[in-house]
Amino acid sequence: MPPFASASEIVRKRKHGGTALLTPPSQTSKPAGKKYKLWDVVLLPKALIVVTLLACGIYLYSISSIHHSYSTNSVPFRIVELLGKGKGVIATRDIRQGEIILREKPLFVVPSSITSSPGALLLDLLSGLTDKQEASYYDLSYVNLPQGLHPGTRAYDEALTLAIFQTNAVSAGQNVGIFPRMARLNHGCSSAFNAVYTWREREGAIVVHALKPIKEGEELLTTYTDTKRPRDARRQFLQQHYGFHCGCAVCSLPTDLSEVSDKRLSAISELYQRFSAWQYGQVSGREAEAVANEIWAIGEEEGYWSERGRLAADVAWVAAAHSDAAAETAWARLALRWYSYELGADSEQAEEMRKIVARPEAHPAWSSRHSESLEGPWQRPAGDV
Ligand SMILES: [Zn+2]
Repeated sequence: MPPFASASEIVRKRKHGGTALLTPPSQTSKPAGKKYKLWDVVLLPKALIVVTLLACGIYLYSISSIHHSYSTNSVPFRIVELLGKGKGVIATRDIRQGEIILREKPLFVVPSSITSSPGALLLDLLSGLTDKQEASYYDLSYVNLPQGLHPGTRAYDEALTLAIFQTNAVSAGQNVGIFPRMARLNHGCSSAFNAVYTWREREGAIVVHALKPIKEGEELLTTYTDTKRPRDARRQFLQQHYGFHCGCAVCSLPTDLSEVSDKRLSAISELYQRFSAWQYGQVSGREAEAVANEIWAIGEEEGYWSERGRLAADVAWVAAAHSDAAAETAWARLALRWYSYELGADSEQAEEMRKIVARPEAHPAWSSRHSESLEGPWQRPAGDV
């Protein structure tokens, strides 16, 4: 059975490195058998994560994967102070849809599940960095610093270091890491975010791509949470975990328009649930495809373009299962196009779609269900990527 996707699963897998439908769940799950978890990675869609302290004490099971490195690639943006928002990222030129904006290796990573004192661990790691690297860490923003601690004490230092980590850490495969430049990207909901980041295991780096065309002077925004939720729920989450009241372009809509947006986003979430029912045989291939087309159409109205690569790849899976090579190929082409925008034309996901386009009958799901004719995507790709 394909590791099919509820919307939340789509987010989780993407966050864990952009792995897609065709990746068995076992390759994306966290290490098993750890009695205590120090960081609980709560997935925010494509990406940013919240790490929650769950337990302390005992021992650190592994720091072997920790490494220090900084990318020095030139980038099409600069980090600036924004009125009322702190630091943010502004495009220094027009950026094409799908263009890579940043490739950054982590300042350091920490296993997603550890059992030592987190503050002490982080202080120990930071002591191994250069002064410049350490300064870049302490320059990051933070929320939820416990009250009543006195600066200059060990307890304060540990709490501050941990608060910074929890505010800025991002999933990096089986670990969570700090990426000081990427961490400067502010948040936008739904149609407001224009950049997506993905961890690439084979590169040991996080990459950020332009989901939409971005104009010179425009702020680059990613998303810290699943924004396919109503405005109040989004704002509550962001306030609690990141300490700000979201004033993005979508959250700032007048009440009537905001309600329309909320309805669209709720509809998309519900349709994803309906789509995932295909794997249990509860809807036919044609019905699943119609639902996917509906998701696409509502996303177009909303301006929500994220997750389209994954969605199209999922429908290609459905078409393959029902032995419709033409529909499978059309959906795989669409998936290739949107994976290329969101994850990069050189991503593993894009490469997988190229293989499917070249040999649709070689799809692992091929002919695993009864034969059925599908219609293909309502929106057809302009051409191969
Ligand atoms: Zn918002």
